[in-house]
Amino acid sequence: MARVKIENLKKSYSDFVALKNISLDIASGAFFTLLGPSGCGKTTLLRAIAGFHRQDSGSIQVDGESIGDKPAHLRDVGMVFQDYAVFPHLSVFDNVAFGLRQRKVSSAELKQRVGEILEIVQLAPLADRMPHQLSGGQQQRVGLARALVIRPKVLLMDEPLSNLDAKLRVELRRDIRALQQEFGITTIYVTHDQEEALAISDEVCVMYGGVAQQVASPWDIYSRAGNLFVASFVGSNNRLKGALANGRLAIGEQASERPFNLPDGPVIATIRPEKVRLGRDAGEDAFSLKGTVRHAMFIGRELEVSIATQDGVVDALVKPEARAVALKPGDPIEASLPVADLMLYDDAENGRLLA
Ligand code: ATP
Repeated sequence: MARVKIENLKKSYSDFVALKNISLDIASGAFFTLLGPSGCGKTTLLRAIAGFHRQDSGSIQVDGESIGDKPAHLRDVGMVFQDYAVFPHLSVFDNVAFGLRQRKVSSAELKQRVGEILEIVQLAPLADRMPHQLSGGQQQRVGLARALVIRPKVLLMDEPLSNLDAKLRVELRRDIRALQQEFGITTIYVTHDQEEALAISDEVCVMYGGVAQQVASPWDIYSRAGNLFVASFVGSNNRLKGALANGRLAIGEQASERPFNLPDGPVIATIRPEKVRLGRDAGEDAFSLKGTVRHAMFIGRELEVSIATQDGVVDALVKPEARAVALKPGDPIEASLPVADLMLYDDAENGRLLA
């Protein structure tokens, strides 16, 4: 078990600042995910923790010990890569044994530990195969076994599932989570896939522009996005211009019944697509926006309906019923936005959560 503490970490590539003052406190045994779009600095941060990159300034500690100046091979971290990075000329067994041989573990212990971990990742029957005789999912299990067999204090994973097909991705992410919990190993995981991050993590750090935008549980990230970037990146929230006047929220000509304990002024209101309803419920405190269908897409379990209203585009994710599935572009429609489901943000670039 190991607590990882990162303080004021900065990293530039010539004059481009990739990490701007990152501070994180990762609990021992936590599954911690760095989530963000391409180029936000996730891999740079992971590689700095692994020791493949030297930070410009700031510190990295594992259980109180500063490791920021140690070479990678002395850092007691295991790493799993996106492209598996298994040695093509070594069998499954020898790939997994590699780190133990480097550490001069006795051959009896090596056999036992490799055997054990191959059982756990369900590769024992394939121990003698060469990597080219394995599927992508099996190769990634080799990568995982190779990282775990050395019993590192910290496990680092850089988009380990992104080369696999959708079904395998979901299967392997369950296995990774189960293994992580069984081993209790502090894990730092990089992904740009919000669903994966929400599904697998104890805590998520949403990154953008080299900055940690929010660190919180998956539920809090999803339901209480701390700023407008997080709100749009996670949960694809709709965004509408509004204003608070005498404590009521106004959008267009309508005002909320519910009072808000916030100062008057312009705000941005957001709402998740699955909270938007088609049609109006009498008596509910909701904004009702008239518009027309831009497109309606039936995607199996849900129906996506994009609606052009006077106050902007509103996307809805609703249960697919025959009448809704038949919607066509140009059809008139009303979108209801329950006030209780709205989140309010500062009307500023990447405004902060107000309520
Ligand atoms: P992705 O999901 O695409 O891998 P990421 O969030 O992991 O993205 P990083 O690889 O950490 O992003 O890169 C952060 C930024 O630093 C990017 O804008 C990238 O172009 C830049 N960058 C990364 N490596 C270098 C390098 N060796 N030299 C110059 N710039 C780099």
